[in-house]
Amino acid sequence: MSDSDLTRLTAAETAARIAGGEVTAEAVTEAHLARIEAVDEKVHAFLHVDREGALAAARRVDEKRERGEQLGPLAGVPLALKDIFTTEGQPTTVGSKILEGWLPPYDATVTRRLREADVVVLGKTNMDEFAMGSSTENSAFGPTGNPWDLTRIPGGSGGGSSASLAAFQAPLAIGTDTGGSIRQPAAMTGTVGVKPTYGAVSRYGMVAFSSSLDQGGPCARTVLDAALLHSVIAGHDELDSTSVDQPVPDVVGAARQADVRGLRVGVVKEFRGEGYQAGVMQRFDESVELLRELGAEVVEVSCPVFTKALPAYYLIAPSECSSNLARFDAMRYGLRVGDDGTRSAEEVTSLTREEGFGPEVKRRVMLGTYALSSGYYDAYYGSAQKVRTLITRDFARAFESVDVLVSPTSPTTAFPIGERTDDPMAMYLSDLCTIPSNLAGNAAMSLPCGLAPEDGLPVGLQIIAPAMADDRLYRVGAAVEAAFQARWGHPLLEEAPSL
Ligand code: GLN
Repeated sequence: MSDSDLTRLTAAETAARIAGGEVTAEAVTEAHLARIEAVDEKVHAFLHVDREGALAAARRVDEKRERGEQLGPLAGVPLALKDIFTTEGQPTTVGSKILEGWLPPYDATVTRRLREADVVVLGKTNMDEFAMGSSTENSAFGPTGNPWDLTRIPGGSGGGSSASLAAFQAPLAIGTDTGGSIRQPAAMTGTVGVKPTYGAVSRYGMVAFSSSLDQGGPCARTVLDAALLHSVIAGHDELDSTSVDQPVPDVVGAARQADVRGLRVGVVKEFRGEGYQAGVMQRFDESVELLRELGAEVVEVSCPVFTKALPAYYLIAPSECSSNLARFDAMRYGLRVGDDGTRSAEEVTSLTREEGFGPEVKRRVMLGTYALSSGYYDAYYGSAQKVRTLITRDFARAFESVDVLVSPTSPTTAFPIGERTDDPMAMYLSDLCTIPSNLAGNAAMSLPCGLAPEDGLPVGLQIIAPAMADDRLYRVGAAVEAAFQARWGHPLLEEAPSL
């Protein structure tokens, strides 16, 4: 089998071929490294490629197999890891100059679980600095291109992870989703992304942006692949105090079930209208129709407070970020500027933060500090927390009458690089539909539902499930995926990107 064929396989197929001895894990890794070499100059999905580490991990899988040891369901499958998870001895920059050159002394829990499952970590992917953004343009190391059209954004903050999937540089990736950073890039690149229930995937070793919202999750080209990855990374971790101590739902079983008959699906009424691209709504409405044809009972549901989610998020997330980012004081990690023996520690901290943080990070730290200051706390942060409670109640009411909710993932398809960089409000609107689930902590997925007729770019369908009912996402997602596959004659939108 040729190298390019190996990069076209799903993760499930790759693992089966490795386990069956049809191909070595080393050959699979080599094929992906060659693909990265060939296209990453254009895509810029990766900030760091760990060639030696990846090949060594792959060879260990091949040795295990030769010894007749049982291999895990993703053994030998290559993966692209968002550069927000610590990797022992390997760079972890969070897309920021402030952590350039820092080599973490430990692996994040997600990293450790991947290694224990014999997943081959190829390297670290590009992202908006500290995961703040919707386009990956806020990376201190330059933007990532969307493999569908390199002049457009791949979404953000996890644009590198999603682009690596669409460019066939990796069949699996990991993202983090604070307000949409897994789902929106998935929508922009025609891939699958899941934000698990808050607390389902450990945050230990995941650089903090907004701790009450941040959630790591799987990215893949198929729903089943995402489920397989989900079950590897999820589960209780005593190193994370907000980790959920409950069994992981059977997401793989649900993906294999792929049946929506009798399921009640709610269409969120508030997520349409002004600002929504016509082609996005067309594909979304077709998906709703498809769910009906597949036997789901579809009803319209109103969640009125969702319209207030964006302002609440842009008070809560910056507030938490202003506190979390205080640790970057030039003393503990990474960059240190102006430490020439004449300056005080405070001066060095201030010079380092001035040089090490980009404009969006500074904007958020200032917004958050303001919102938390005495005299303003009740008016801003306090009110935002009340809205958060009301959003959670909107969800609770909706889930009394439906099993899942659906909406477009993002109001538009991928926009041109540079279009929204000077307009933070326009950028923030990209996450209009994804943010409520972060505020409420429930589970949500984005999967491709076709191309917008006006620009030929991927459109994402969002499925939302109650907390700890992540399996429903996979059940519905896999059913929709199979139906689209029958219609398009190929898995999802797999063959379209050309580089
Ligand atoms: N785009 C949103 C923001 O800028 C969400 C980012 C994320 O999910 N990490 O905050």
